[in-house]
Amino acid sequence: MGSTDLDPKDYTKLFLNGQYVAAKNKETYSLKNPKDNTVVIPNIPVAGPADVEAAVKYAEEAFHGPWSRFTAIQRTECFLKLASLLEGELTPILTLDSKTSGIPVSLAPVRERNYIRNCVLYYSGWTDKQKGDYFPADDGFVKLVRHEPLGVCAAINPFNAALATLFLKAIPALATGNVIIVKPSEKTPLGSLAVAPLFARAGFPPGVLQVITGAGSTGALLAEHMRIRKVSFTGSVATGKNIQIAAARSNLKRVTLELGGKSPAVIFDDANLENALKWTIDGILTRSGQLCVAASRVYVQKSVADQFINEYKKRMKDAINDYGDPQDPAVKLGPMVDQPQLERVKTIVERGRSEAELVVGGSQHGDAGCYMEPTVFLNPKDDAEIYRNEIFGPVSIIKTFETEEEALKLANDTEFGLMSGVFTKDITRALRMSSGLESGVVGINCVSVQNIQVPFGGKKQSGIGREFGEYALRLYTEPKTVLINMAA
Ligand code: NAD
Repeated sequence: MGSTDLDPKDYTKLFLNGQYVAAKNKETYSLKNPKDNTVVIPNIPVAGPADVEAAVKYAEEAFHGPWSRFTAIQRTECFLKLASLLEGELTPILTLDSKTSGIPVSLAPVRERNYIRNCVLYYSGWTDKQKGDYFPADDGFVKLVRHEPLGVCAAINPFNAALATLFLKAIPALATGNVIIVKPSEKTPLGSLAVAPLFARAGFPPGVLQVITGAGSTGALLAEHMRIRKVSFTGSVATGKNIQIAAARSNLKRVTLELGGKSPAVIFDDANLENALKWTIDGILTRSGQLCVAASRVYVQKSVADQFINEYKKRMKDAINDYGDPQDPAVKLGPMVDQPQLERVKTIVERGRSEAELVVGGSQHGDAGCYMEPTVFLNPKDDAEIYRNEIFGPVSIIKTFETEEEALKLANDTEFGLMSGVFTKDITRALRMSSGLESGVVGINCVSVQNIQVPFGGKKQSGIGREFGEYALRLYTEPKTVLINMAA
């Protein structure tokens, strides 16, 4: 343990109006470290109606008060200060978060840091570019269009990317002049609680970013609140639908949904197979498969199938050696987030044994902790649960194909549509496939990857709306038209 280690016991309060305050609701719950199921923290608060009400009130005061008077350049200055504070403080915060998420700290220095840092720096340049529009008085009216912030927004986040989702929602929301209440997953709240004071230190006024904790019941209070104007949600399809319903039943708040996936990777026989292996294995094992864009369906052309599948199986088997203590910076792969998630994955895999040929793994790894073996199934039945549903574990399914047409049909035969990958040296075929694949993002000779400059989000039941890039900003503003009568 280094001297910069943060103590979970310091994060048992809500972050409201610029400071930590005890929750009014007295209900609490405990969290364990999934590496060995030891208790990390016994008393995380569950924010109740009075806590949510307080957060909304502080948020409104900030929105109409000090935050509304910040110039765009002052907002940029806050972002730049935040980026510089994160330089020194992000790794200990990610390490703290890892104690209940099980996400290896080895991802912190590059992957996690780049996500978060790039997000802050990217949007720091957008604060003064919400320029709106102007139309001349050809008909006697000058027309102005302003892009106005929505007001109080809420972020409801998943367990597998607690800090990344906090930033991916909060930063574009703040860049456009909104304020935000963040509710991290009940499984991984520590990093979000620890990062919140950095916003205050960076100069954001109290109430601009607040963090409340709790499970679905707390999330529901946000989704149905009458004075919250937008919910940006990342999580499962089922919860996304509930949030959409709650928003419609309450005040028709705007809703952005970043939901699950069952991402296909299509490998043609002319592909660089080493490259395809690298991306597809990384794409299912990163965060032990608890990744929305995990490459969980692999389609390989028959002529190279034996060669590819043999090597894929070998590498998936060998990956067991990369498992270890997620708080050890040398360890690449960690456990499932908790015992219920491990049991869920084990049960789905168990049922999968009769639906496909299990060729790698299939069991829990070790006795202590929540580790699941890297697992590979071949040739699933068409309606197999393992083939149709998001497993959210280190479990992939391989099928073979003969023609491009067949590959496209197989890849699109799903209700999900988040990410796809196509591996080939034929650029014409790659571009044709990129048009045909029904997903929000298509990687050519890569998969399970995102970039802050360009929109990210799902087609079909993988979501509504987009995050990242300029597109996220549009979903945190609304146009207002001003008509000026030149004859008056
Ligand atoms: P989840 O849906 O169980 O929970 C997500 C959040 O919703 C949590 O904060 C939870 O407390 C809250 N919640 C639960 N019920 C609620 C309700 N009725 N009203 C309001 N809030 C409620 O998801 P999870 O298990 O934490 O995350 C895994 C899922 O997230 C996977 O499906 C994964 O694919 C998806 N995900 C998607 C993306 C993306 O960008 N598309 C990114 C990461 C994760």
